[in-house]
Amino acid sequence: MNTIAWIVLLTLLMDFGLHWLADRLNLNAWPASPPEEFESLLDPGSYQRSKDYLRTSTRFGWLTEATQLAAVVIFWFAGGFPILDAWVRSFSREPIVSGLVFVGVLLGARSILALPFSIYRTFVIEEKFGFNRTSWRTFIMDRIKGAVLGCLLGAPLLAGILFFFQMAGPFAWLYSWGVVVGFMLVMQYVAPTWIMPLFNRFEPLSDKALEKAIRSYAGAIDFSLQNVFVMDGSKRSGKGNAFFTGFGRHKRIVLFDTLVNQHDRDELVAILAHEMGHYKQRHIIMGLMMSIVQTGVMFFLLSLCISHPALFEAFYMPQPSIYAGLILFGLLYVPVDFFTGILGLLLSRRNEYAADRFAVKTNGNGDAFVRALKKLSVHHLSNLSPHPFYVFLNYSHPPVMNRIQAIREQTA
Ligand SMILES: [Zn+2]
Repeated sequence: MNTIAWIVLLTLLMDFGLHWLADRLNLNAWPASPPEEFESLLDPGSYQRSKDYLRTSTRFGWLTEATQLAAVVIFWFAGGFPILDAWVRSFSREPIVSGLVFVGVLLGARSILALPFSIYRTFVIEEKFGFNRTSWRTFIMDRIKGAVLGCLLGAPLLAGILFFFQMAGPFAWLYSWGVVVGFMLVMQYVAPTWIMPLFNRFEPLSDKALEKAIRSYAGAIDFSLQNVFVMDGSKRSGKGNAFFTGFGRHKRIVLFDTLVNQHDRDELVAILAHEMGHYKQRHIIMGLMMSIVQTGVMFFLLSLCISHPALFEAFYMPQPSIYAGLILFGLLYVPVDFFTGILGLLLSRRNEYAADRFAVKTNGNGDAFVRALKKLSVHHLSNLSPHPFYVFLNYSHPPVMNRIQAIREQTA
């Protein structure tokens, strides 16, 4: 094993170990009774159910992660990469075709391996705790649509990247970056109008009084809003959510039907005030810029590593190729990904506080927002007292009690 092999292997193990440790701490941190704020909302039975939900999903997460890790390590050390490479080379001399097959087989294998876990999570765990609404038909159709879209969108993009790295010499990374950024920007418009409707139905909000309240709030903060839609989130899960898409004049707010059914008007406006806060404070555009910069850095590092013999040696590959380099670099990138991931979560939690502050300040209804947050936590069987290390590694939002506390301090 060379240095690269050691770095990749140790990072994979460290990543797994740290998450496992955080999970253990998180399970042990569960207090005997809920925070005072929640005492009236949670009877002992529901509180126990939240604990069971956390324990069941954590343990199942271990099984999922361990299987995935084992599959990668076994494939690697059993010489899977050179075997697959010899196979794809046997039927095409065209490196872009071989590359598409090579990457396609690996991604396909990963999806197939993930399938039983996803079935168990949806139809056993989520079912047991009363969240699942996904029918088998929806589940199967989702997988088929996802695979078709992945091929239609992913294959040309990958072919482009392979082509640039094959032909464009030292500037390949710049061209690839440009193409991927173009794709990301186009998707900002294509996803809400073309792709999301393939999976869900979007209907204009029928509650006109609610729409009026939303529009009047949006007007007050100078937020130009094209449409308010209700999405049939209940097609898959009982958990509620809200989001919005688009930029400029094309912004649209989407409320899950489950959310509309579970919250009153004031709570819904408070939730949307938070969502609009993300936009007004430029969190969305900053997020997009950051992923553009990250993509550029990644392609630059890729261009430095992709033809390095030690990279191929680490994975027992006698013949270097652009397409295999791409995948192997993906493994080498795990440590970078780990740290940028943590940084991203840190930033995300900061933005959530900022959006909360914006919502409370502009909407002036801190109580309705606190009510909405509590209701969401109770409905979702959320962990009300997660361990700080677990939050550090996993949470994109601050724990609900911290958010409530911050809102109370703001309105005090
Ligand atoms: Zn948010």
